[in-house]
Amino acid sequence: MSPDGYWTHGYDMGAAAVEGMFSPALCAYCQGVYDLGKVEVLARYTDCSVWKSPCCGITVDDRGETGWKSKRDYYPLDRDGREIQRGAR
Ligand SMILES: [Zn+2]
Repeated sequence: MSPDGYWTHGYDMGAAAVEGMFSPALCAYCQGVYDLGKVEVLARYTDCSVWKSPCCGITVDDRGETGWKSKRDYYPLDRDGREIQRGAR
């Protein structure tokens, strides 16, 4: 577990997997890669947004990013396709 309390996995999907994406993310359920900039947001709340993952159709929210809950629904990736480990550096 990383210092910020998240499980991190050091995912490295490769630059080709995220090519052309605005804000790539790795699905925590099916390991699919999709673009956060293109998801269809189902609902926006003051503390989170909710969308359906285009890879496996699971309802996802971003509370895992803000620390509201300990499990993430997705892992943000950088332009090289590597997991961004927030708070760990
Ligand atoms: Zn998925």
